[in-house]
Amino acid sequence: MRPRIPLVHAPTPIVRSKALSSMLGVELYIKRDDITGGAESGNKLRKLEYLLGDALERRTTCVLTCGGAQSNHARSTAIASAMLGLRSILFLRTGENPDALRRDYTGNVLLDRLAGAEIRPVSADEYRDRTRIMGEAAEALVEVGERPYVIPEGGSNGLGAFGYVEAMRETRMQLEHGIAGGAAAFDLVAHACGSGGTAAGVVLGAAEYEVAHHVWTFAVCDDRAHFEQQIARVVAEARELEPSLSRLAPLTIDDSAKGPAYGVMSEEQRAFLIRVARTSGILLDPVYSGKALFGLAQAVARGAIPRGARVLFIHTGGLPGLLAQGANFEGAL
Ligand SMILES: *Cc1c(COP(=O)(O)O)cnc(C)c1O
Repeated sequence: MRPRIPLVHAPTPIVRSKALSSMLGVELYIKRDDITGGAESGNKLRKLEYLLGDALERRTTCVLTCGGAQSNHARSTAIASAMLGLRSILFLRTGENPDALRRDYTGNVLLDRLAGAEIRPVSADEYRDRTRIMGEAAEALVEVGERPYVIPEGGSNGLGAFGYVEAMRETRMQLEHGIAGGAAAFDLVAHACGSGGTAAGVVLGAAEYEVAHHVWTFAVCDDRAHFEQQIARVVAEARELEPSLSRLAPLTIDDSAKGPAYGVMSEEQRAFLIRVARTSGILLDPVYSGKALFGLAQAVARGAIPRGARVLFIHTGGLPGLLAQGANFEGAL
């Protein structure tokens, strides 16, 4: 058995939103993976059940990972590590000015600091070399008697992907209990994609547990070709660990809703996020889930997804990132 530590408050609810169903023109169910926990919440916590399970089995003392300055993954890792009594070191990508991160006490960074994580700012250039940089830092820690464990960006490797294979098993159980209009598979599962690990787990799990006929993942950065490679790599790693995962749900990688840049919404996307909040009480984040649900609405509007389809949208979290972007909403609210 693969070691797994319970971190997720599972099963996360699946809710039907009448307001959003009529707004988007599909039968919309939302899996609330934005509430997998408390401050540590979000999709990354599912991956961390396996990654930190492995780390503990290896008697790790210190966890290393990386991400953007407002990385949800880094924050979930920092808080979960604190829960388990482990040190954490976060290699966070800075913008033009590294001092801005040193003085940042907002959103995810505030939570990182509260959890006692050590933050090491890295420039955008250095960040491309993150695997080497974390590897060298790990070697240095070994020298001083620590037992380091390196988690890649987004927790996206074969082991982390099991978090979403498991989420699909959980969803199958919920379908059996009739909480989403019957036991039949969804027409579609949709979610945001940033490093590909969630998509990899979902395409494996959705097929294995017959949760959906199709998976639609919305890139929030890079492009389709990039994620085709990323997701294929993570799927291959997961299958190496678990060869019985032989089937894959058909996948569409949609990069049409990523907006102006990573972490930056268009005016139209921001207006959509606000409208969703006010009509449904579902608070999306500006980096991932807001763009993904916007993309879903657009895909239905352009006829790529049939009207009336029964869709499960995975709300992957990101609230602290929204709170860090308050200034971008000035004048829009
Ligand atoms: C990381 C993240 C995603 C994307 O998940 P990946 O597995 O990295 O593709 C989506 N939504 C939120 C809120 C995230 O933090």
